[in-house]
Amino acid sequence: MVLQRIFRAVIMGPPGSGKGTVSALITKTFGLSHISSGDILRSNISNKSELGLLMKCCIDQGQLVPDDVMSRLILRDLRVMDHSSWLLDGFPRTVPQAEALDDAHSVDTVINLNVPFQTIKQRLTSRWTHLPTGRVYNVDFNPPKVPGLDDETGEPLVQRDDDTPDTVTLRLKAYENQTEPVLEYYRSNGVLETFTGTETNMIWPHVEAFLHKKLFSVKQKVA
Ligand code: AMP
Repeated sequence: MVLQRIFRAVIMGPPGSGKGTVSALITKTFGLSHISSGDILRSNISNKSELGLLMKCCIDQGQLVPDDVMSRLILRDLRVMDHSSWLLDGFPRTVPQAEALDDAHSVDTVINLNVPFQTIKQRLTSRWTHLPTGRVYNVDFNPPKVPGLDDETGEPLVQRDDDTPDTVTLRLKAYENQTEPVLEYYRSNGVLETFTGTETNMIWPHVEAFLHKKLFSVKQKVA
């Protein structure tokens, strides 16, 4: 789909709520560029950049990376995408990050995936990732064709260091304390749209229908 004007969206939800999978479907269906803060950090870690090495222990302990580091990293990437439509995944995660984003760009829509924490705990501990692309599999409901290998490249999948049960609990706490206020921030700005469910396959058709409607009405305004 070719968009008629620049469209900027954020996707939110607790870790393991299916943000990565839904983001991939959105970017494929609507042609937005996908920017994932977690993927950017993991690629800094696997390239052994100074920043990546500094941030690795925050991530492994289920803590958030400091706001100023994260905002600088993401806003720098967004600057070179001035004429693109994008979907931000994993950023902002705190109110100061949301304010830093607002100072630089206006956000058209925030998609919030509301998945119960109990579902998430089960899901995260059976999750496997292809690190170079961020492609995610789940051994229970979305297994790779060959166990342990990425479908597209045949390269090995890994389990993330921060997907252990204890770290998952800490990440969910960080989400409750630091990220839930961001939902309130966007709700009061009138751009928040919440989708509730326990399975990504059930949530996706609603997200797709919502974005179709949203983009169609954007086109109407332009015409
Ligand atoms: P994710 O893949 O989005 O779950 O991110 C993995 C980890 O990277 C998080 O648990 C945080 O430690 C860190 N991280 C990702 N995005 C942010 C952000 N916007 N602010 C702070 N830390 C972040």
